[in-house]
Amino acid sequence: MKLADLVRGLPATRLLYQDDSYLRETSCTLLRVEPDERRAYYVITDQSIFHPKSGGQPSDIGRITGDSFALEVKKAMFSEGVVIHWGKIVEGEVHTGPANLSIDWGPRYRYMRRHTAAHLFDSCLAAVMGRRLESTDSWVGDDSYVGYRGASPNIEQLRTAEKMENELIEKGADVTARVVERNEIASLLTEFPSLDRLPTDKGLRIVTIEGFQGIPCGGTHVRNISEIGRFQLKPISPSDKGFRVDFDTVP
Ligand SMILES: [Zn+2]
Repeated sequence: MKLADLVRGLPATRLLYQDDSYLRETSCTLLRVEPDERRAYYVITDQSIFHPKSGGQPSDIGRITGDSFALEVKKAMFSEGVVIHWGKIVEGEVHTGPANLSIDWGPRYRYMRRHTAAHLFDSCLAAVMGRRLESTDSWVGDDSYVGYRGASPNIEQLRTAEKMENELIEKGADVTARVVERNEIASLLTEFPSLDRLPTDKGLRIVTIEGFQGIPCGGTHVRNISEIGRFQLKPISPSDKGFRVDFDTVP
């Protein structure tokens, strides 16, 4: 089934994870339930704490429970401003109406820490290089990396950025987010040339690590960079567009 057909006529999902990344459970209303050919279900709710796979962040997993049913959510997707949960029935028959959502907190919190670490590395590398390098992609699953366009800095520059990141984590700094109007963006983000790559189907949000310029991002972040843990660079590798920096965060 096409995602666009599934979401037709439905309002945009209220993305609760953008207001509070630490929300692990919430109530909701199931608006649409569609079985697929594999005895699994697509479920659409009025609001969600499930972050879909997007922006380099893997999908959350968890549960939807309601009156006499439980569904294990295996993944969440995003289409036309609507979050689509997909999963298998654990008990009962899933139906529209009031229900509860809960996410598996272990993987989500790891994504939050690593995703925030990737933003901070962008800023530390920019400070070391004297200019912001253009990132091409990132991922914070089991493997975590940030891809950049152009030639790789030398190992000494990368190690200096790593050291700077760990010193900042040690000191701590608040991470805040706010939704902005599209026409505000250009003046807020003078260091970002690729504004045309920003999504058009959801609110634009600026995430700011205290002491650095804001970053356009719809992902989930820790409240303070002290939660990241120790940031460790792994070997740097070439990529199609430039180079890739793999890393780990150790609690
Ligand atoms: Zn982010």
